[in-house]
Amino acid sequence: MTRGPDPLADGPGTDPLRSRARRPLASHQTPGLVCAHHHLYSTLARGMPAPPRTPRGFREILELVWWRLDRALTLDILAASARLGALEALERGCTALIDHHESPESIEGSLTVIAEACAEVGIRVSCAYGVTDRHGPDGARRGLAENDRFLAEGGRGMVGVHAAFTCRDETLEAAADLARRHGVGVHVHVAEGPDDADAASRLAPLARPDWLLVHGVHLADDHGLAGTIVHNPRSNMNNGVGYARPIRFANPVALGTDGIGADMLEEFRLAYVRQREDEVTATPLDAWSWLATGYDLFPEALDDRVSWSHDPAEAWHLAFTPGVRPLTVEVSGELVYADGAPTRVDAAEIRAHAAEAARRLHRRLEEMP
Ligand SMILES: [Zn+2]
Repeated sequence: MTRGPDPLADGPGTDPLRSRARRPLASHQTPGLVCAHHHLYSTLARGMPAPPRTPRGFREILELVWWRLDRALTLDILAASARLGALEALERGCTALIDHHESPESIEGSLTVIAEACAEVGIRVSCAYGVTDRHGPDGARRGLAENDRFLAEGGRGMVGVHAAFTCRDETLEAAADLARRHGVGVHVHVAEGPDDADAASRLAPLARPDWLLVHGVHLADDHGLAGTIVHNPRSNMNNGVGYARPIRFANPVALGTDGIGADMLEEFRLAYVRQREDEVTATPLDAWSWLATGYDLFPEALDDRVSWSHDPAEAWHLAFTPGVRPLTVEVSGELVYADGAPTRVDAAEIRAHAAEAARRLHRRLEEMP
């Protein structure tokens, strides 16, 4: 291990993550962590039946895995998936999720199902329905309507778009317009794989600083898009799409998991070592600052407090200490996790219900042509 400038040498006031807390923190505490890109609908994908054939690239991973899984979702299965995902986030000290959802056979009401699951467990969520033309113009219209309904009813959210490469220009314009009318940004996958390499030119006239641009792996350095780039190092490695090298962007950068849990300390460690593999002079402070960018997107998490099993809870320690876990989690002053268990819900009941829903989901996938 090498060690660069010590952030603690100047006192905790300089730590970009700990210094912004709205409540006093001890050295083993942080505010609640933020996952800037999640897919709670994918929590039950683990152990799913093998796809009809082995995907040979990013486009086939979407077509043979994820675009089959989302079609198999019912609102009932989604509720079980979201409750388990919310529980797992809480168990890792993540109190705020920015979710991106698609369930093309069960669109209406889906965002409320996700919001209620998170509220039940006691964590915060921002919801968005990923609009797409993959299921025809009616599917796109219904996706826009679900975003509109949820936001009009006072839901915490953004307008979701799957990705430019699955949308007509009219759909992208309608989503941008809907977001403007609700005073929120658009949450969209951008240039994750080579199929979406022209996303920047199509989105540039629409994108605003409150947009979330997820991945950006295949964006040019000078892509010209306004918004925060969300880096998902584990997902990018898992899909073999390449390294986004987020340090090259002028945009703010935040960290997400792209649906593979919500262990943000682990994602921080991965972001650091992936950056280090590319540039050996990098320090953990870049990835730590990306974690802190989550508070610009979800400032309510600054009201939350996590006590960790390792002291001090700062970048140079946590980058090299796998397995650090929360001892207690408070959301807005309420103790929602203590003694290894959530206080509001029964973790065993959530896991048993999720296992039963997963069996139903996997059966639906086996029966899908
Ligand atoms: Zn994603």
